[in-house]
Amino acid sequence: MQSIICLRCRREIEVGEKSVAVYMFAQTVGVKPRQKSGAQRICFCPQCAVSLAMGLPPEGALNMAAWDMIRDLVSSEPSLNYAAWEGLRSVAGLLGSGEDSPADIRARIRRAG
Ligand SMILES: [Zn+2]
Repeated sequence: MQSIICLRCRREIEVGEKSVAVYMFAQTVGVKPRQKSGAQRICFCPQCAVSLAMGLPPEGALNMAAWDMIRDLVSSEPSLNYAAWEGLRSVAGLLGSGEDSPADIRARIRRAG
């Protein structure tokens, strides 16, 4: 099975993990025979989806279209925001209370990552 990588942060998204998928395909219009390209799937982890949605509009028509769709998802329901918050919390948890040595923290990040 092909692994999924967040387009923005390059983090691997595991099967069953929360993420946002943007599907894209192209199709000819008014041309016979009608042609349809294969579909592409672009994935974002919840943190990146929320960050993109709350950030400034991107440049380029395709980016803008994707941004609109992601904003639509992020703004309609808090579940993705919650997933992003949980992700952030687990990363912050890895950093510990400040009493661990840097080596302990590195070992923990290695185990988790
Ligand atoms: Zn990401």
